[in-house]
Amino acid sequence: MDPYLDPRKAIIRCCRWLCRHGYFGSLRSAGGNVSVRIPDEPLLVITPSGRPYMDLVPEDICVVDFDLRPVAGGLKPSIETGMHAGIYQDRPDVGAVVHTHQPFASIFALINQSIPALFDEVVMAIGHTVDVVPYAFSGTPELVGKVRQTIVNGCFCFILQNHGALNLGASLDQAWKNAELLEKTAQAYYHALATGRPITTLPAETLQRIGPPS
Ligand code: 13P
Ligand code: ZN
Repeated sequence: MDPYLDPRKAIIRCCRWLCRHGYFGSLRSAGGNVSVRIPDEPLLVITPSGRPYMDLVPEDICVVDFDLRPVAGGLKPSIETGMHAGIYQDRPDVGAVVHTHQPFASIFALINQSIPALFDEVVMAIGHTVDVVPYAFSGTPELVGKVRQTIVNGCFCFILQNHGALNLGASLDQAWKNAELLEKTAQAYYHALATGRPITTLPAETLQRIGPPS
């Protein structure tokens, strides 16, 4: 019996949904990666590199330790495995990471603009801001370093400059839901900015009342 079967199946289910809904760029490409932390162990379960998500089977999903040494799975793990491992090491509150190339959040990756607190249900889930991680080439230690510097704000969603989005969650379901919340917010904010009218953000009292994301 495969001890990692449940998280492997959960990752495939999540990836297929994200793929069908355009979060990875296209049905045949592999723009993004998804991982889950194995509780109480320095291990993560993560999508393989460059494989179309719709074709994945549980044995394709890789298991590696936080030093990126392979534990299970025959395929090459995502090039962003170091980024996922760094997040789990720095944020004990994070149990899953969903990195996407989702369309509306990617607009903010190009104009290098963070997304402020706009909707209370979104702020409750992902925090007061969606900050931009400065650009570094995909899969490099430079990107890992910049991500680790930015995630200290305790929020659950981030924009990767000229790249895509990073959605964190206590569980895979939460990271997945946060990806959807980010996309809805980015879409509304983009259209609101396009009107040229002033944008209202949530009042400071509301942010105080909400407190940190949960
Ligand atoms: P992988 O297919 O190696 O996960 O890379 C996709 C990606 O989004 C790189 O940032
Ligand atoms: Zn990417």
